[in-house]
Amino acid sequence: QKVIQLADASVIYEEGADPALKNINLTVKQGEFICVLGRSGAGKSTFIRTINALQPLQEGSVQVLNKDLAGLSEKQIRSVRADIGMIFQHFHLIPRLSVLQNVYTGRFGHRPSWKNLLGIFSDQEKETAEHYLSEVGLLEYAGRRVERLSGGQKQRVGIARAMVQEPAVLLGDEPVASLDPTTSDHIFQLLRRLHEDRDLTTIVNVHDVELASAYADRIIGLYEGELVFDGKPGDMNQRT
Ligand code: ADP
Ligand code: ADP
Repeated sequence: QKVIQLADASVIYEEGADPALKNINLTVKQGEFICVLGRSGAGKSTFIRTINALQPLQEGSVQVLNKDLAGLSEKQIRSVRADIGMIFQHFHLIPRLSVLQNVYTGRFGHRPSWKNLLGIFSDQEKETAEHYLSEVGLLEYAGRRVERLSGGQKQRVGIARAMVQEPAVLLGDEPVASLDPTTSDHIFQLLRRLHEDRDLTTIVNVHDVELASAYADRIIGLYEGELVFDGKPGDMNQRT
């Protein structure tokens, strides 16, 4: 089943500028683990932002979970985003809150309740957050302030926060670009494990070919906004 479909999708930020995405055509099926590969400025982040409805297209169409994102109301967009988990290069955590509070208050497309903002959680909310913290190996850090964590640990908190939503689609915008190689590898191992354990479709931007080849089922290569490769990691050696 297709989860995402782009048809002749183009993004142009400013009149006269080169398109950040140029006539992209592709379909993502449920259960795929995709790495979007490309250098800085290739359009990876724009690609992710078209899928989570942060960036409208100038041409073409994008469908996510069977909804065409053009012309949706705010409420409909929120409902699509409720099924999308996001992780980021710089984590987007709230520094002075605890790990547990971050997992529960920073969900994508979700406005926290005033109770959550004051650090008040129902037993159910606490249990859910703790469950996902334990999945990412950070349960013992639940009460700690996120600013005291290492980069790898912060990204694990980001991942737990995304998983709390029980998303159908997990999107990562360069989630390991600020991490050292060993930590990056650990984060990809975790993403892969979470992906296998549920019905997830995962799309992660990277600029490291080795990481993409090691972990992705499929690689989407972007260069100056154009799709220049779409295939299995093993196909990269065979094509010219
Ligand atoms: P990547 O994530 O691969 O580094 P981006 O999607 O961030 O690439 O950027 C693609 C191109 O679009 C780049 O040339 C970048 O300068 C441009 N761009 C990105 N965001 C904006 C913006 N908000 N306004 C204008 N140009 C932008
Ligand atoms: P860093 O290198 O910044 O500490 P990592 O992502 O490698 O970041 O690890 C973060 C923390 O999670 C570490 O304390 C590590 O011991 C722990 N950890 C790593 N993998 C697992 C796992 N599969 N289960 C439980 N804990 C883990």
